[in-house]
Amino acid sequence: MSNKHLGHTARKRFGQNFLHDEYIIDKIVSAIGPKHDDNIVEIGPGLGALTEPVAELVDSFTVIELDRDLAARLRSHPFIRDKLTVVEQDALKFDFSQLRQSQKKIRVFGNLPYNISTPLMFHLFKYCEHIQDMHFMLQHEVVQRLCAKSGSKLYGRLSVMAQYYCSAVPVVMVPPSAFKPAPKVDSAVVRLSPRSLPQYAVSSVASLQTIVTAAFNQRRKTIRNSLKNLLSEVQIVALDIDPDSRAEQITIAQFAKLANASHKASQAPSHEPSHKVAQEISSHDPRHSD
Ligand code: SAM
Repeated sequence: MSNKHLGHTARKRFGQNFLHDEYIIDKIVSAIGPKHDDNIVEIGPGLGALTEPVAELVDSFTVIELDRDLAARLRSHPFIRDKLTVVEQDALKFDFSQLRQSQKKIRVFGNLPYNISTPLMFHLFKYCEHIQDMHFMLQHEVVQRLCAKSGSKLYGRLSVMAQYYCSAVPVVMVPPSAFKPAPKVDSAVVRLSPRSLPQYAVSSVASLQTIVTAAFNQRRKTIRNSLKNLLSEVQIVALDIDPDSRAEQITIAQFAKLANASHKASQAPSHEPSHKVAQEISSHDPRHSD
């Protein structure tokens, strides 16, 4: 099948799979539900499959597009250019807090380039206090992992960290045939709604990342073993958590408790080894190991 769509040759390195199925596009736009005065930003507008119908519903919005040719096309779009602020930049490096308008949080959406979707979501989680909601097209399996609960095979680091920040709900299933070129995998749109109050009190998000990474890096081991450099069996039992559990059985609330205990231990001078290991694990970029 040709990789050309609307006169543009899709660039693999930018994860370009363009939506062309009007029925699916309508379903996605309805799931987003844009209101005319929303403070909206689209990541990766591409050839405008979602941008055009959303532009019909809102007064104005911002789009962030890395591909120079596509950004130029949008700037000169015959019908919607006056409504768009086109930011030609890498969304992974964009400071989303600058889009916050005093009373209005940001609504983010995008059919994300799949090669950077996980680091991009982690980048956005840092701006959760400024975000009302996010709708993202992702690989179906990534959506399943984002929404997975403890006890499921798909429950992992991505599930815990995403659900610490947001509630996650799948909203639209999308077959490969809806895209040009068609990807090899099924896709789905997820709605992520940042929690207004952190549901699980964590004294240090870095400690949560460290604990979760250590537990899921050795997911077949019991947490007595996988967390042994961070917490002793006695410390785990004191939290009312079974040290024979495996990572996938630990709920987010329990991970929060483990993170707080590990953080506290790492602050105490007598627990220098735990502290050292915690630092070593967190200095390894956890975004790429789910
Ligand atoms: N929204 C369009 C659609 O649904 O047909 C295009 C989606 S395509 C899967 C992903 C889009 O993200 C492309 O337009 C690509 O150029 C853009 N993109 C890729 N990497 C990006 C990045 N780091 N920052 C911003 N945009 C990026």
